[in-house]
Amino acid sequence: MKFETLCLHADGNKKDEWGTITAPVCQSATFVHKGVGVQSEYSYSRLSNPTRAHLENTVAQLEGGAAAFAFSSGMAAVATVMKLFKQDAHIIASEDLYGGSLRLFRNVNSAEGMTFDFTDTGDIARVQSLINKSTKAIYCETPSNPLMQVSDIAALADLARKNGLALIVDNTFLTPYFQRPLDLGADIVIHSGTKYLGGHNDVLAGFAVVKTDGLAERVAYYAKTIGACLAPWDSFLVERGIKTLPLRMDRISANAREIAEWLRGRAEVKRVYYAGFADNAGYAVSVRQSTGFGGMISFEVESKALAESILRNIKVFQYAESLGGVESLITYPMLQTHADVPVEERERRGINDRFLRISVGIENVADLIEDLRQAFGQ
Ligand SMILES: *Cc1c(COP(=O)(O)O)cnc(C)c1O
Repeated sequence: MKFETLCLHADGNKKDEWGTITAPVCQSATFVHKGVGVQSEYSYSRLSNPTRAHLENTVAQLEGGAAAFAFSSGMAAVATVMKLFKQDAHIIASEDLYGGSLRLFRNVNSAEGMTFDFTDTGDIARVQSLINKSTKAIYCETPSNPLMQVSDIAALADLARKNGLALIVDNTFLTPYFQRPLDLGADIVIHSGTKYLGGHNDVLAGFAVVKTDGLAERVAYYAKTIGACLAPWDSFLVERGIKTLPLRMDRISANAREIAEWLRGRAEVKRVYYAGFADNAGYAVSVRQSTGFGGMISFEVESKALAESILRNIKVFQYAESLGGVESLITYPMLQTHADVPVEERERRGINDRFLRISVGIENVADLIEDLRQAFGQ
């Protein structure tokens, strides 16, 4: 089946004896045993639950993985996957990383003994130079948040394979509709399902999708033991979101291109970060490994006063954290997503008091551009 069809029919339309069209919310914590010592398919919902299993099957097929695991948030997925590594493991990660992942690696995993190097994972020679005896994995986001830096997944996978490392890719920004890291050689894909997969700004969720049965067994063990699993009702919401993923992604990326071009034409905008511009570093890699550029745009305006005035005056865009939903949002990374990053590092990377990030939604693009125009003060 093609991707759009899989979003609706990954289960082959075999759900249950009643012939339900949508997978029902199975709101049961526990399940009756069939006999003494005879397990049913389900025993306890922390281990597995029919609604969650249905969603996990869909996501596994969309990413082309052996199995998917649904967690209560994206961070729960990342934190659980990190348990695959021992305390003395060294991991090389993208420096332009989701703020929460950065905090987990720097402040939680590091405190337990793991070591990290953060670098531009788009620079393969640089990544290679950081590999040492303890290195166990490469962790990357592409395009990255919020600078839209692109990493070559196939080249990283090659490097990982030659050095016996795992390659983990956070695919939240493009979703499997536009990019399938496992096909390019990655071992594990991470998602914040809160973003495009759920897609409606109404549920928190996370996923880890693994390439092999061996990895599936190990992640299943930590998932059931740590217990940050996705609840049945939330599983239902994400499954419902996924049904329209291709439609939303097409609309969002078409809107984003128009907005990125509009921003680039404004004299008050000093720089626009958008993966779909031919002069974005890594554009050739993007075109090779992805079929779309997504809905994320960052930009730097000429003054802090203008950045603040845009945030005050915006009406259709809403000033809120998060991304990937049907509603367009705008954030001030310096004060929100990247508030924990040391000032000098933030400034060096261009995430300053003039820097804004938008997540484009599915509104009519003319309304979005008009909204920006009035917020810019014409
Ligand atoms: C939001 C996000 C996360 C964390 O997901 P939550 O669902 O908020 O816990 C991880 N990675 C990326 C790229 C994200 O945007």
